[in-house]
Amino acid sequence: MQLPSYVQEIVNVLNQAGHEAFVVGGAVRDYLLGEIPHDYDIATSATPKEVIALFPRTTSYGMKFGSVTVLAKRPVEVTTFRREGRYMDARRPLDVSFSKKIDDDLLRRDFTINAIAYSPKTGIYDPLCGIGDLELKIIRAVGDPVERFREDALRILRAVRFLAKLGPPWQIEEKTLEAMAASSHLVKKLSKERITDEIVRIASSRFASYGLEALEKISETAFGHPLQPLDLDALPLCEDLRLAGLTKANPWLFSWLVLSKKTQKYLEKVHLNRPIPESLPELRHLCAQVGRDHLDHWLILRGEPPRLHEIADDPIGIQDLAVGGKDLQKLFGEGPQLGEVLERLAYLVREDPSLNTREKLLQLASDQKEPGK
Ligand code: ATP
Ligand code: MG
Repeated sequence: MQLPSYVQEIVNVLNQAGHEAFVVGGAVRDYLLGEIPHDYDIATSATPKEVIALFPRTTSYGMKFGSVTVLAKRPVEVTTFRREGRYMDARRPLDVSFSKKIDDDLLRRDFTINAIAYSPKTGIYDPLCGIGDLELKIIRAVGDPVERFREDALRILRAVRFLAKLGPPWQIEEKTLEAMAASSHLVKKLSKERITDEIVRIASSRFASYGLEALEKISETAFGHPLQPLDLDALPLCEDLRLAGLTKANPWLFSWLVLSKKTQKYLEKVHLNRPIPESLPELRHLCAQVGRDHLDHWLILRGEPPRLHEIADDPIGIQDLAVGGKDLQKLFGEGPQLGEVLERLAYLVREDPSLNTREKLLQLASDQKEPGK
């Protein structure tokens, strides 16, 4: 495995100080799958304090759980070997105990394909046969799956996420799958933030529909609602669109998701219930309602091709008018009527963009001025 030089350097520093250090988790899995890892995690026998002392730039938010982020060319999480602690509530470890053995650390990982270690000095270390499962294309829990899901029910959603990432012919191993079904009620105990993160990642995965098929089987016990089958893969691989597609078919998900104000606004716009525009004026009116940023997403979600280019140069809102509020103040003063007139003019130019000249709009505006006012 060829490590980027900044990762290799961190391993070297740890080794030279007499500590063991392995690249673990997603990076090794992705490398063995022939993909380029998107980030690197290192597991080490060094304690967090020892790690901090060895590197000039670190952050230590996760120190309580053994993680120190080394700020190299890119941040690398360096985590002390851990042993599975006791769990509270199917979600949070009560305590973490550090270990001097990589084997302990691999045993507490979720799936065998995520429990392969690599050391530049000694090569791949795979005591749990993760490579065998990579070849069989099987997602298998490390150890007793019932126990592992009871400790942390998020692993249930993670299994679905890996299925959605890897796609057919990948399968979840039979006992792991049975345990997922039997433990799915524990998903309710997870924090909504963690649930949101996994659901969004499932929906944004290449084989989202494949993952959702697995989620359908446990949705009722996990969330109290059936998941509507849908072909999310038909939507482009864009996080916003996939989330919009998923929540459009399953509005109940809103009570399970913690979304930023910006995402909520976006979803409100793209979920707006309006007929599909047939004419350009209708398209411009729709654009005024959902906004230029969201028009194409609104169409794509209804199986229509994007059309923003057709009206890209057309006036849509008040800000596009050839007259501004100042021009009209003389006629209308500053009251609420001014806003109404501007809105009316915007409507008229959406109907017919050729009206969008200063002269024509001033004329239209004065036509609207009620006599005597
Ligand atoms: P991705 O490519 O999506 O980042 P990943 O496998 O790296 O996938 P992370 O969430 O970054 O996933 O976690 C890194 C590693 O930590 C995992 O590969 C796994 O070994 C371990 N891990 C993460 N979450 C859990 C969990 N809830 N229980 C057990 N092990 C976990
Ligand atoms: Mg990762």
